[in-house]
Amino acid sequence: MRGAAAALAFGLVLAAPGPPPAGAQPVDDLQAADALVQSIGWRLSHANAPQCPRAAPGIGLLLADAQTFADPAAARAAYGLTGDVAVAAVAAGSPADKAGLLANMTIMAVGDLPVSSLPLSAPRQGSWDRIWALQARLEQAAAQAGEAVLTLADGRVITIKAAPSCAVRFILDDGRGNAGATRMQVRIGRKALGQLGGDEALIAALLAHELAHAALDHETVLGTGTPTVKAVRRTEREADRLSVWILARAGYDPEAAPRMIRQLGPHGMFVTASPTHGKSSTRAREMLAEIAQLRGAPDADWARRFRPEPALSSPSVPLP
Ligand SMILES: [Zn+2]
Repeated sequence: MRGAAAALAFGLVLAAPGPPPAGAQPVDDLQAADALVQSIGWRLSHANAPQCPRAAPGIGLLLADAQTFADPAAARAAYGLTGDVAVAAVAAGSPADKAGLLANMTIMAVGDLPVSSLPLSAPRQGSWDRIWALQARLEQAAAQAGEAVLTLADGRVITIKAAPSCAVRFILDDGRGNAGATRMQVRIGRKALGQLGGDEALIAALLAHELAHAALDHETVLGTGTPTVKAVRRTEREADRLSVWILARAGYDPEAAPRMIRQLGPHGMFVTASPTHGKSSTRAREMLAEIAQLRGAPDADWARRFRPEPALSSPSVPLP
């Protein structure tokens, strides 16, 4: 199970996420894809927490709500749930994993907030409100109290001790093939996972690029107007360069970044991007140059060592 979908460009997302697409959601390998994204996201986020400008204790857990499926009863049956709200995915090695949480455990309460106390509203778009409220409550508890408490359907109460992470939520998006980021959220399309052959290092490279956009707060850098081509290209170059540091800190091979760019290029991932996002070959070359810089800094301490792109005086054209 997964979060809401939104129309995304490969790169920075400036608009708030929209409602999920209508239609049935098959239950085959979605959960495996969710777990993969959460696991890679946690590894990147936890390892880079000391560097991220906005860090917060996290737990590596994604919840889901059967009511966001086209057929909630079928979803409950397919996942073996005894209620609507359940664990969608647990990030490998995360605090939630260490606390023994498993996918498809049915959740009755998050902290002192019973699931049953949150009303469901129609139409379907409204039904996403509940799961986002619960997910936010979970993240808030982890960030503020350093732990989150879940009550399971079998009566067990599980306390998850939070660990440092970048304050960014990772979401698998069923709607589009690409990826994007806001200040607080990284999204990757399910199609992009397929185009990267399910290869963990390449997926990590794409998520690291998006995490770089979030960490560098490109949403704010580009402002509220229409960003210029030059300004978008600047943020893309900066995210490409920082992504190799983010990968290295998490123990991934930074050369996965240029490999990812070369692999996605032929799939038209940049069709809306050029000239804003640049040619794949240029981007790969710039990443390799940054990897050479990184080789001289084995601690990959990008908070101190990363050189930002020169700032632009007018990155956007004000809205009329
Ligand atoms: Zn980008």
